[in-house]
Amino acid sequence: MEFKPFEKRIWLSSPTMHGEELTYMKLAFDTNWMSTVGENINEVERIFPSLAGVKYGVALSAGTSALHLCMKLAGIKPGDDVFCSDLTFTATVNPVTYEGGRPIFIDTERETWNMDPAALEKAFEMYPHVKVVVTANLYGTPGRLDEIREICDRHGAVLIEDAAESLGATYKGKLTGSFGQYNAISFNGNKIITGTSGGMLLTDDKKAADKARKWSTQAREAAPWYQHEEIGYNYRMSNVIAGVVRGQVPYLYEHIAQKKAIYMRYKEGFKDLPVTMNPYLPESEPNFWLSCLLINKEAMCKQVRGDSDVLYVKEPGKTCPTEILDLLLSNEAEGRPIWKPMHMQPIFRNNPFVTVYGSGRATTNAYIAGGIEDVGSDIFARGLCLPSDNKITPEQQDIIIAMVRSCFE
Ligand SMILES: *Cc1c(COP(=O)(O)O)cnc(C)c1O
Repeated sequence: MEFKPFEKRIWLSSPTMHGEELTYMKLAFDTNWMSTVGENINEVERIFPSLAGVKYGVALSAGTSALHLCMKLAGIKPGDDVFCSDLTFTATVNPVTYEGGRPIFIDTERETWNMDPAALEKAFEMYPHVKVVVTANLYGTPGRLDEIREICDRHGAVLIEDAAESLGATYKGKLTGSFGQYNAISFNGNKIITGTSGGMLLTDDKKAADKARKWSTQAREAAPWYQHEEIGYNYRMSNVIAGVVRGQVPYLYEHIAQKKAIYMRYKEGFKDLPVTMNPYLPESEPNFWLSCLLINKEAMCKQVRGDSDVLYVKEPGKTCPTEILDLLLSNEAEGRPIWKPMHMQPIFRNNPFVTVYGSGRATTNAYIAGGIEDVGSDIFARGLCLPSDNKITPEQQDIIIAMVRSCFE
């Protein structure tokens, strides 16, 4: 089937500005707080902890810097093993390695696409010395956060929650970004709300927040001169960026409602296809950051992925993520493959991976029907992220749905 390409590209998820952002940026300019100090930062540090229901927030240059300071607060030392989500963006785990830690990847569960509590439990049996767990909420969907927290507490481990993708999502009525001892959110350009960049560390521990704030501003001691007893970082949020974030705050729930409508529209549009959408638990309310599709096994044509290339063989009635993504892109609509699991990444090829399925580590990243032994590589093989920009019109979405449907012909 032939489609007419969109005149303006439909993005996966792009920034949506409303006007107040400019007012607060201008406030920074007019008051000359063009710096990492100022009213916008103070406000951002007031708003987000109260939104998430935690006591303290430290505004930082990125979600990744927030995660790095979480790792330091958790006390990761060179050589320490750390349990990490496997199916996630690399920024969840890179900060572990900044502190010299070794990520041990924990497989994913089907019901939320997040860390599998059963695999985490198994990991504690295999590696009882581990004292830190990092879990992400993929695509805005909360994992089984209370189970994960309970397992961590029982094993005396600190939980770090990477809520970069799930700002505004709740689990059992409680906001994500509040389940760990230390938590990170992000204001990167494609997140649910943005500051162009930026992030924040959230915690109930005042001492931890004070330490993070000190580390983020070059670890200066209280002295009349620049006195240093620890290594510091230049991780503070800019007051201009804080202005953008501050201006976006009133629109968080509007963006979530738009993203949810997009998800539901896709779900309806695909209800008779051999696919499912990224799932969530009835006790959670995602922020629906990205709408994702998982192709049923029986509807997958043969697809083989190498380290940087991919081949597939088209069969009638069957498709694969590559065919769908290529068709969308050739018509100016941006989708994306599912995050490639960390245990499949060349950089982490020697790191342990714990799954409750099969014999453990998957040895190939090629999709072989029935031959996949862990959940993460299976979701990677059969899944994709659909264009999920909150500015998509229903008419544009209908065309995207028709494009996807055509791949199953
Ligand atoms: C975006 C993201 C981050 C990092 O946030 P930045 O603000 O881009 O540094 C961390 N973890 C996950 C899961 C993300 O999607």
